[in-house]
Amino acid sequence: MDQHPRHQPRQAHRFERRGAAVPALLCAAALAGLLVAAPVSGAPATPLAAGMQRIVEAALGDTYAYERLGELCDVVGPRLAGSPAMARAVAWAAATMERDGFDAVWTEPVALSCWMRGEERAEVTGPAAWSLPLIGLGNSVSTPPEGLEAEVLAVRDWDELEARGDEAAGRIVLFDPPWEGYGKTVQYRTRGASAAAGHGAVACLIRSVTDYSLGTLHTGMMSYDDSLPRIPAAAITVEDAGRLHRLCQRGLTPRVHLVMREHRQDDVTSHNVIGEIRGRENPDEIVLLGGHLDSWDVGTGAHDDGAGCIITMAAAQLLAHLDLRPRRTLRVVLYESEEFGGFGGRAYAEAHAGELVRHVAALESDSGAFPPNGFSVRADSLVTAYLRELAAPLAEIGAGEVESGWAGVDIGPSVEQGVPGLGLRTRNDGYFHYHHSPADTFDKIDPEALARDVAAVAALIWAVAEDPVSLRDRAPVHP
Ligand code: ZN
Ligand code: ZN
Repeated sequence: MDQHPRHQPRQAHRFERRGAAVPALLCAAALAGLLVAAPVSGAPATPLAAGMQRIVEAALGDTYAYERLGELCDVVGPRLAGSPAMARAVAWAAATMERDGFDAVWTEPVALSCWMRGEERAEVTGPAAWSLPLIGLGNSVSTPPEGLEAEVLAVRDWDELEARGDEAAGRIVLFDPPWEGYGKTVQYRTRGASAAAGHGAVACLIRSVTDYSLGTLHTGMMSYDDSLPRIPAAAITVEDAGRLHRLCQRGLTPRVHLVMREHRQDDVTSHNVIGEIRGRENPDEIVLLGGHLDSWDVGTGAHDDGAGCIITMAAAQLLAHLDLRPRRTLRVVLYESEEFGGFGGRAYAEAHAGELVRHVAALESDSGAFPPNGFSVRADSLVTAYLRELAAPLAEIGAGEVESGWAGVDIGPSVEQGVPGLGLRTRNDGYFHYHHSPADTFDKIDPEALARDVAAVAALIWAVAEDPVSLRDRAPVHP
């Protein structure tokens, strides 16, 4: 599609807003606090704090985000990077933003390779036989057409693989590590296959990367070490990983037969989707916000990251709806292919390299639609300190914490170029129950939490876009 903005007259039609989806408790008690919103110091309310109150009040009583997320999940469905389903999602998002009052909507090309799963099945053939549900990891190669069958070597972790490496040749290595947080445990998903192949294994199975399981399968991206053979890699349930591991600990040698097929297509062109609310006074200064539109092919990408797309779309749309058009331009970017290596985020930073210096901030929402906690900021410490002050009124909806830290994959390439980055943080203890699994569906979305996420993002992003002083001028030196 076209690479340049199509500036359109604002549509007369507005999404019809329904009644409040949130309990009176929030709409009354929380807002009572915000109606006198002031910095925690108790100083008088500032014009920015007053505007934030109004935005929070409107967002908490609004069902727009919940309606739209339901549409994305249930009508559009899952949207694997580069797939025809993703193309439908791109068309849906562009049409939705045009219809819902954005000033300009366009798409920008993203070049990527596309991976899709084909047939996948497995069974334990002995000493006890059972059907073994599995899910291929993204980027895994196929088995031979007839599949492969081998004995299982179950190990707890890297150390045990190293200690027993000479037992791995010709076997299927199963990693059954305890959950030690996502960042540590996911390493078995991303690097396990090559570690096993380095000892001569013919395939790799991992315990699904989750802290809780009712038989759910969790996929995700993996990568190969180019110096080692590429072996098929899949996740099995926590329950099956435990059973196979216990059989091995009994001195038995379970055998698994597995068949996996994958399809690849190089040189695919997909798209980022972009919508703007033009700034009132400084339209060339841009405040970026967004999430990733691609998802895994199981579930419907409700928390990851349909929520992030809709939270940021709804935040910008709400400001237009309230006629609170800020000083600077709000630009919502729905990124392609975060799951397969951040292609969309890199494509955006490359295409807009010349104007990144006029990007005042970039916000990413990719932590699910759980109640907001605050924001994680990657920027100069003075910018972080200023944002902490700016976000203080959001404590009334639990979203006032601002910490220095990771902001997001998609905005990463822009943040590396000096754009202050903000990540929405949520109280997402339950996230990995659903993450990358068939259970990440719309029924897991709490409308109250989603409305609070929109409130937090809309209020803070408005304050940043409206602030007479650019956020970048709060730091002593521009990178
Ligand atoms: Zn994500
Ligand atoms: Zn993800």
